[in-house]
Amino acid sequence: MQNPLATKSTLVFQAPVFDKLTDNDYKPAIEAGMKKQLEEIDAITSSAEPASFENTIVAIEKSGVDLTRAVKIFYALTGSATNDTLQAIKAELAPKLTAHGDAITLNDALFQRVKAVYDNRAAMTMDPVDARLLERYYTRFVRAGAQLDAAGKEQLKKLNEEESNLATKFQDNILKARSAAAVVVDKKEELDGLSEEAIAAAADAAKAKGQEGKWLIEIVNTTTQPVLSTLTNRALRERIFKASTSRNSSGGTDNGAIATRLAQLRAQKAKLLGFPNWAAYVMDDQMAKTPEAALKLLAGLAPAAARNAKAEAVKLQALIDRQKGGSQLEPWDWDFYSEQVRKAEYDLDEAAVKPYLNFDSVLVNGVFFAAERLYGLTFKERTDLPVYHPDVRVFDIIDTGGTVIGLFYGDYYARDNKNGGAWMDSFVDQGELLGQQPVITQNCNYVKPAAGQPCLLSFDDVTTLFHEFGHALHGMLSRQKYPLFAGTATTTDFVEFPSQINEALATDPDILAHYAKHYKTGEALPAALIAKMKNARRFNQGYMTSEYLAAALLDIEWHMLGPDAPLVTDAQAFEDAALKKYGLLNPQVPPRYKTNYFSHIWGGGYNANYYAYMWSEVLDADGCAWFAENGGFNRQNGMHFRSTVLSQGGSKESGQLFRDFAGRDARLEPLLDRRGLN
Ligand SMILES: [Zn+2]
Repeated sequence: MQNPLATKSTLVFQAPVFDKLTDNDYKPAIEAGMKKQLEEIDAITSSAEPASFENTIVAIEKSGVDLTRAVKIFYALTGSATNDTLQAIKAELAPKLTAHGDAITLNDALFQRVKAVYDNRAAMTMDPVDARLLERYYTRFVRAGAQLDAAGKEQLKKLNEEESNLATKFQDNILKARSAAAVVVDKKEELDGLSEEAIAAAADAAKAKGQEGKWLIEIVNTTTQPVLSTLTNRALRERIFKASTSRNSSGGTDNGAIATRLAQLRAQKAKLLGFPNWAAYVMDDQMAKTPEAALKLLAGLAPAAARNAKAEAVKLQALIDRQKGGSQLEPWDWDFYSEQVRKAEYDLDEAAVKPYLNFDSVLVNGVFFAAERLYGLTFKERTDLPVYHPDVRVFDIIDTGGTVIGLFYGDYYARDNKNGGAWMDSFVDQGELLGQQPVITQNCNYVKPAAGQPCLLSFDDVTTLFHEFGHALHGMLSRQKYPLFAGTATTTDFVEFPSQINEALATDPDILAHYAKHYKTGEALPAALIAKMKNARRFNQGYMTSEYLAAALLDIEWHMLGPDAPLVTDAQAFEDAALKKYGLLNPQVPPRYKTNYFSHIWGGGYNANYYAYMWSEVLDADGCAWFAENGGFNRQNGMHFRSTVLSQGGSKESGQLFRDFAGRDARLEPLLDRRGLN
C-alpha cells in the first residue's frame, strides 16, 4: 500500500488527507523524505554543468518537498492531537532530523557550488528576490562554518557538541532544582489567601510526593511566583521567594559553572566564525544587526523603567504603612501589595465582561470582520475536508474579488493531548515555485462549553486570538515565489510585529463594538468596562519593564564577553555588576530570570535574542501610531500594510520591510507612551 504522505495530496490546496493517515505512516514517510532530499542534493553536487543560480540555488530550494510535507503535518499533529506512539516517533526522529540538516549545511561540495554562484553574482543580472535567495543560502552555509579549514571545522564541531551537552545539562538541572525547591507547608492556615482549588491542588501535589497531609507549593520558571500575589502569610512568601531565587546556585544542580563556560565557548565559536563576540554573531542575522543597537534600545529604556519602579515602590510602601504593616517592602511583598493596588484602581471584573465576549462572535464579528475591513478577506466554512479531530473547523480564505487563496484550520478547544497556550502553524507554506498556496492553522485552548452553551472568553483570550490570527494572516497573505520567504519566515526581532498589530485591532473602537455584544441580550459592552480594560495596561509597568530589561541586558552582557576574556568564576557577581551598570540593580525588582535559571538563553534558542520582545514592541507601538496618524485601521491603510509587510514574508531585510511600510525607521516615542516611560 502506498503511504498517503509519500505524494502530494490531491485535495484542494494539498489539504492533508487526515482520513487516510495512520500513526504508522509518519516515520517511514519522513525517513523516505530525508533519503530523497539527500539524493536531490547529490544530483546537484554531481552535476557536470557549472554551478548556476537555477541548477544550484533554485534546485536546493526545490529539494525536500516530500520531507517538508510529512514533517509539517507530523509536527502540527504532535502539537495539537498527540499520543504516546507519536511522541515516541518524535523523540526517535529528532536526532536524525538534526543530522539530516547538518548533512546538507555542512556538505562542502554543495557549499562550493553555492559559493561559485555567489562569487559570480556581480556578473549576473538578478531580480532582487533571486539575489536575496542566493545571499540567504550563502549566509546560512557560512554561518554554519562552511568557510573554515579542516582544523577549524573540527574545533567548531567540538564546541557545538560541548554546547549541546552543557545546554541539556543546564535544562536538566533546572527541572531538578525547580522540583527540589517546591515549598512544603505544614499548616493549612498558612495558605490563607489561596483559593480552595489552589489549596486542594497543593494537597494533591504534596501527596504525589509522599507528603500526605501537607501542602506543596510548586515553583514556576520566573523569579517571581504567582502565589505571592495573594498569600497573606509574609514568612511563607519570603520562604517561597527565596526558594525561587536560590535555585541552581549550589549543590548538584548548580548552574553557575555551566553558564560561565557556555558564555566562554560561544565567544570562542564567534571568534572562529569571524565575530568579536556571540551577540555580534547572532544579531548580524537579525534586524538589530549589532548588539550595540539592541543595547541602545534597552539601556535607553532602563532609567525611566527604574524610575517608575521606584515610584511604584513608594506607593506600595505607603500602602503597607497605611495598613500598619510595620515592614519595609521586600521583593516577596511586591506582588501582594501591587495586587491590592490593581484591585482598587484597575480591576476588571472578568465575570462582568465575559458575557460580552462570546467566542463565535469574537471570531466572526471581530477577527474575521477586521481581516475584511483591512485586507478585504472573507472566510467561508466548509465541511467536506478531513480533519484530525471533530472540533477542528476549516475555512476557505477568500480574497477581494472572490478568489479562494488558501485554507484556514481553526482548532479552538483544550484537550489533554494538545500543547497549552495558543499558536499559529501551517500544513503547507505558500510558494509559487512549488505551486503551493497557504494552508494555515490556529490553535487555542478554550474550555469547550456544554452542548448549547456559549464559549465565553476573558479579554486576555480575545487578545490572544487576535494576536495569533496576526501570525496566521502573515502566512495567508504571503505572495512569494520562494517558500524560504513565506509568511512568518522573518527575523526573530520582527516576526511579532504583524501579530502585535493585529492584537491592537481587538481594542479598536469600531471593531470592539462590532464583536463585543452580550450573548443573550445583544447589548454593547458598557463604556465603563472598556475604559477599565484600557487603563489596566498601565498597571505595574515600571516593575514589569524593569524585570524584563534586567533579563534582556543580562543576556547581552553574558554574550558580549570576548573570546579572550578570562572565564567568569562568580556568576552572581557578574550579574550584579551588569545590572548595576544599567541602574537596574534593585533588590525589590529582581530580573525576571536570574543567570542560573535563565533557560531561554542557556538551554533554549533565545541566546542573545531575549531583547527581541522589546525590539518588536517598538515596531508594533510605532506601527499602531502610523495607522492612527494616517486615518486608522481602514482598508486603504490595511492594503498598504498587506502589500509592504504581510505579502513580503522574509523576502527583504526586516528593517527595509518596516521602512517600506512606514516610510521611515521606527520611532521609540510611541512605546514610551504606551508603557508610561516618558
Ligand atoms: Zn506571537
